[in-house]
Amino acid sequence: MNRINLISEEIELSSSSKEWYRNGLGFQCTQCGNCCTGPPGAVWFNDQEAREMAAELGMEVDDFMNTWARRLRDGWSLKETLTSHGWDCVFLDREKVPGKAVCRLYGSRPKQCRTWPFWPENLESPQAWEAAKRETPCPGMGQGPLIPIEDIRISRDDQF
Ligand code: SF4
Ligand code: SF4
Repeated sequence: MNRINLISEEIELSSSSKEWYRNGLGFQCTQCGNCCTGPPGAVWFNDQEAREMAAELGMEVDDFMNTWARRLRDGWSLKETLTSHGWDCVFLDREKVPGKAVCRLYGSRPKQCRTWPFWPENLESPQAWEAAKRETPCPGMGQGPLIPIEDIRISRDDQF
């Protein structure tokens, strides 16, 4: 084995040893809406996602941007509104389904939303996972069916 192969094997070993979740992680969303609210934050999206969200709403992209987006230092974010729960994403709907908080743009929600809770920072360690679960709080983390490692990797590596 040459040096390049050795190095890539070491990288692979070190990355798989970090995958403490290799047997999967339980997750089942309860539609509580907690990950779509909280302190002021950002829901980032890119140009393609803007087109998809505008299309789902039947709007021109320019109108969508003017109505629902805001420019922050690091990019474009969806707007937020202050409610009794915190700063809700503008597309969080607390009326449609009694007792639930659902996304009005579920079919075209941005990557940041689609990949939750399998963000790299939440997967750093079991402690990071538990902290995200506790601090969000996300009652779906650790519950329900096991999400296999292959699916976790897809979300983890498909970041905004
Ligand atoms: S906080 Fe967790 S359980 Fe609640 S809506 Fe978000 S993903 Fe679902
Ligand atoms: S787009 Fe939908 S899933 Fe994403 S933060 Fe807003 S309400 Fe939540």
